[in-house]
Amino acid sequence: MDSLKNLQPVVMTIAGSDSGAGAGIQADIKTCAALGVYCTSVLTAITAQNTRRITALESLPTKIVAQQFEAVIEDFNVAAIKVGMIGSAENLHYLAARLLDYKRTNPRVYIVLDTPLRASVGFSLFDDENLAPLWKMIGVADLITPNLSEAGRLLGCQDARSNANMELQALELIKRGARAVLIKGGHLIGAEASDYYLSVDAAIKPMWFSSGKLAAKNNHGTGCTLASAIAAHIVLGYSAPEAIASSKRYLYLLLQQSQHRQYGLGAGPLEC
Ligand code: PLP
Repeated sequence: MDSLKNLQPVVMTIAGSDSGAGAGIQADIKTCAALGVYCTSVLTAITAQNTRRITALESLPTKIVAQQFEAVIEDFNVAAIKVGMIGSAENLHYLAARLLDYKRTNPRVYIVLDTPLRASVGFSLFDDENLAPLWKMIGVADLITPNLSEAGRLLGCQDARSNANMELQALELIKRGARAVLIKGGHLIGAEASDYYLSVDAAIKPMWFSSGKLAAKNNHGTGCTLASAIAAHIVLGYSAPEAIASSKRYLYLLLQQSQHRQYGLGAGPLEC
C-alpha cells in the first residue's frame, strides 16, 4: 500500500450518472480533466435525464459500489474524494462507514461532501429518512458544500436569506459535527452570490468568497462542478481556502462562457 503514495495523486468521485452529462459523475470527470487532474469514479446510481427533466433514477447495488471503491483504492493514490449523489440508504450506510475507516488509515485524504438533496429541475435525489445517517458522513468529510436550501434542510429550518443568517447556519452545522462548511449563496436575494466558509480549525479564519450574481440560464451541474474543482485543486496542492477561491473563479468563468451555446432546451450544462 505504501508504494501507492509514490504514484500520481488522483481524485475519486463517488456520484451518480447524468445521461445529459451536465451534472454528476460526468461533470466531475470533465472538471478534473480540464484542471489537469486524473479522476477515478465510483458510480452509485444512474439517472435518465436531460436539460429539462429527470425521468428515471436507479440506484446501484451496494455490492458493486463497494467493489468499485476497493478496486480504485487498491491501485491508485487517491488524494481527494468528492462525494455527490449516494443513491440509496444502503449505499449511504456503507459509504459512511467505509469512508470513516479509510480516513482513519489515510488521514491525509481530503473528502468534499456535496450530496445533492434535490435537483434544480425539482426531482428528489435524497429521502428525508436518510438525513440522520447522512450526519455520520458529514462528520467524516473535511468539507461540506450545501447550498442555501440544503443547509436549511439539514438543519430543519428555513433557508438563510441574508449573510448574517448564513454565518449562523454555518456555525450550527459545525456544532452538529461538520468539520468545515462552505454555504453557497447562489440563491441569495440581491446582487451578490457570496459563499461563506467556516472551519473548526481555529487557525483558519472564517471567510466570505464574494462574487457577483450571473443571470446564467445554463447552470446545470454547478454544485458538482464546484465540489470536484475543489477536490482537484487540493490534489494540485492548494490549501482548502485557496482551492475554494480558485474553484469559484473557475466556476464563474465556466458560467460566463456556457451562455453562448445551447445544448438542450432547458438549463444547459457548463462547458469546460
Ligand atoms: N443528477 C445528478 C446525477 C447529480 O449528481 C446532480 C447534482 O449533484 C443533479 C442531477 C442535480 O444537478 P443540478 O441541480 O445542478 O441540476
